[in-house]
Amino acid sequence: MDSVSASPRIERVETLVLDIPTIRPHRLSVATMHAQTLVLVRIHSSDGVVGTGEGTTIGGMSYGPESPEGIKLTIDTYIAPQLVGADPRAVRPLMAKLAKTVKGNHFAKCAVETALLDAHARRLDVPMSELFGGRMHDRLPVAWTLASGDTAKDIAEAEAMLDARRHNVFKLKIGLRSVAEDVAHVAAIKRAVGDRASVRVDVNMAWSERDAHHGLPALADAGCDLVEQPTRTMASLARLTGRYPIAVMADESVQDPDTAFLLAQARAADVFAVKTEQAGGLFAAQRVGAIADAAGIELYGGTMLEGGIGTASAVQVFSTFARLQWGTEFFGPLLLTEEILATPLQYRDFHVSVPTGPGLGVELDEERVQFFRRDVQRNASVAITAPTGA
Ligand SMILES: [Mg+2]
Repeated sequence: MDSVSASPRIERVETLVLDIPTIRPHRLSVATMHAQTLVLVRIHSSDGVVGTGEGTTIGGMSYGPESPEGIKLTIDTYIAPQLVGADPRAVRPLMAKLAKTVKGNHFAKCAVETALLDAHARRLDVPMSELFGGRMHDRLPVAWTLASGDTAKDIAEAEAMLDARRHNVFKLKIGLRSVAEDVAHVAAIKRAVGDRASVRVDVNMAWSERDAHHGLPALADAGCDLVEQPTRTMASLARLTGRYPIAVMADESVQDPDTAFLLAQARAADVFAVKTEQAGGLFAAQRVGAIADAAGIELYGGTMLEGGIGTASAVQVFSTFARLQWGTEFFGPLLLTEEILATPLQYRDFHVSVPTGPGLGVELDEERVQFFRRDVQRNASVAITAPTGA
């Protein structure tokens, strides 16, 4: 073991793929999920400090260009060799080096950056939020996604969440059925919850602009507050924004600070869903937030349905955002049947608490991690059904 004054060195980068079942089928316009696959990254250094990160996507490759298997391969083959031997405290320089030698691969880079920042904060014995200038919030509002695809089940689920005081913001995944059917589904849920909850929808780009011109005013009439990524292109989002009395949020379109700047310039959204992985990392998410803020665009903390590690990292960085007008959807761990953290994130009174311990402020339950490893549990299947087959 090095002495305290000697520079620590990265000794080993470990990646693990875990498959964890979801509590119910999660039906999106791009896929129906029955399990979530988490890629965990652990960076081991010579001073004994270990930092953990997570790379997670939705529905295999149906949401974006990176797959769990690809995230692991990118880290193992192209990123790890560049990290081993380096000083783990040099987070920015290391990430700048990776930006030059590995193009794209935002999710893989976010996982690695998270692990480096977790380690660095643990080394300094401070929560990760301190590395971003300190937290503005001790807890963050958390929405819940109703995505069973069944109106009565969704209403029952919303009522249970309200009773438990866990969520009072509901996001409905729509876009698989006709616009009229979807609007009827949303209206029924809004009628049931009334003023007790905010109801929002996510179309995940499934609508044509013509669909959106029918859908947006009807959703506004139904009492829906916000529509997320109704159409695919920036030009289309720009034509829809400000036209109807419903907020338009960009999600898939917000890929990184560069695209965030173009969207802001085109006034192609009222709100940005900022996702750490999609942005390309935690620093990048901060930059997207700053661009939105400067452009008068409101903010929302988005999720790729990450597990406990990815969610804790998002909670740490978004706790430092001055404005987060639409709250967050950091409920990923709650969608999984199994908790992989030794002490779960705390959800209560419609908020998630920002952990106060060093680094991410959470620890893995090693036994569970080992149990859900894909390479150990070879028969575990990542059940993903294409929408056409669902
Ligand atoms: Mg979305």
